[in-house]
Amino acid sequence: MAILPKVLYKFNAIPIKIPTTFLVEIDKTIRKFIWNNKRPRIAKTMLSRKCESGGIAIPDFKLYYRAIVTKTAWYWYQNRRVDQWYRIEDTVTNPQNYNYLIFDKGAKSMQWRKDSIFNKWCWENWKSICIKMKLNPFLSPCTKVNSKWIKELDIKSETWRLIEEKVGYDLHTVGSGSKFLNRTPIAQELTTRINNWDLLKLKSFLSTKETIREINREPTSWEQIFTPHTSDRALISRVYKELKKLDNKITNNPINKWAKDLNRHFSEEDIQSINKYMKKCSTSLAVREMQIKTTLRYHLTPVRLAAIKKSNNNKCWRGCGEKGTLVHCWWDCKLVRPIWKAVWRFLGKLGMEPPFDPAIALLGLFPEDLKRACYRDTATSMFIAAQFTIARLWNQPRCPSIDEWIKKMWHLYTMEYYAALKNDKIMEFAGKWMALEQIMLSEASQSLKNKYQMSSLI
Ligand SMILES: [Zn+2]
Repeated sequence: MAILPKVLYKFNAIPIKIPTTFLVEIDKTIRKFIWNNKRPRIAKTMLSRKCESGGIAIPDFKLYYRAIVTKTAWYWYQNRRVDQWYRIEDTVTNPQNYNYLIFDKGAKSMQWRKDSIFNKWCWENWKSICIKMKLNPFLSPCTKVNSKWIKELDIKSETWRLIEEKVGYDLHTVGSGSKFLNRTPIAQELTTRINNWDLLKLKSFLSTKETIREINREPTSWEQIFTPHTSDRALISRVYKELKKLDNKITNNPINKWAKDLNRHFSEEDIQSINKYMKKCSTSLAVREMQIKTTLRYHLTPVRLAAIKKSNNNKCWRGCGEKGTLVHCWWDCKLVRPIWKAVWRFLGKLGMEPPFDPAIALLGLFPEDLKRACYRDTATSMFIAAQFTIARLWNQPRCPSIDEWIKKMWHLYTMEYYAALKNDKIMEFAGKWMALEQIMLSEASQSLKNKYQMSSLI
């Protein structure tokens, strides 16, 4: 989506609080565009999934916005000593004041400035994200110690300023234990310059076990998320993914719906193999699209439509008089049955005799003994062609004919033939289709054969 980079740029460039209404408006516009001003047909949560799982990966702008705020907070913290951050601040403002914000309980005594990049809402946003993620909002590992020891030890501000100038602010850089003010020649020189009494106090404090533990503790989860990433974009995506994990609402899982409608339970292994079947990449994109449309997305069956439109008409579209549930429309309807019977007849000719089960035809869930059958892929193409034939004639009060089904299969067959020619995979192709080609040629009516000039390609 080309709109995403633009929006990200906007979020990044304008350091003001963006109202929720703005984000809602973007969402609305996008949905209008996708559905061409008509009523949405697929839930937003489904569309926001990855392409392989049946969505089109629509970004969640609110989360992206939060990701950017998080990134800003992190950069602000990282570059807090760098000039670029100070330039737009009031020159009188001591930049170190801000340190307390993240170091300490934060922000309570802060005098917020309107034109600051890291402002109050930014901080609050950051805090709420941290709370949601159950993370410590304080970025620095030695924060709490920091303020406490300044107050309790009653160190002269003069001393502190000297340390700050020479070695920095964090306890990390001051050094702890035997390393206290020992790291660089400058630091060693410093020890001679600061007040002896202060030095003693500092040294004893920084040598206690407790302090050392605080300083040398493991990096926070935030640090782990941020540190390996250098580019801006990667960082935003990383944070976005983290936030998305949190936001993962329980969405309509198509497999659960199928399980419910078929009135049975799928084991973990079954679900895995169904998922694999549904995401299986066919050589042709068109086939894949059919597969996704027919099985992965939940269809607007008469029952669902009746619920949406609040009408009482939930009868099967083909006019058989039955209730139009998912399984009815695809399998149970007496106007659909004959085509599946034909599919099973063809399977028999290929030497496979699976039970007459909708889970096999619609979800690709083969019984154990047929899982490694050599004509499995051939059978899959047969199922897809049958599903597509059924879907195409969805509202006609008649049964899809075998000729129509064969026509669709022949279409798939030729598409895969040309793909195989192009990719030099003709042997694989022949293995898959040879037997079925013979069956199709023997079962198709003469008129169909004449019309489409069906003749052996292999
Ligand atoms: Zn029906």
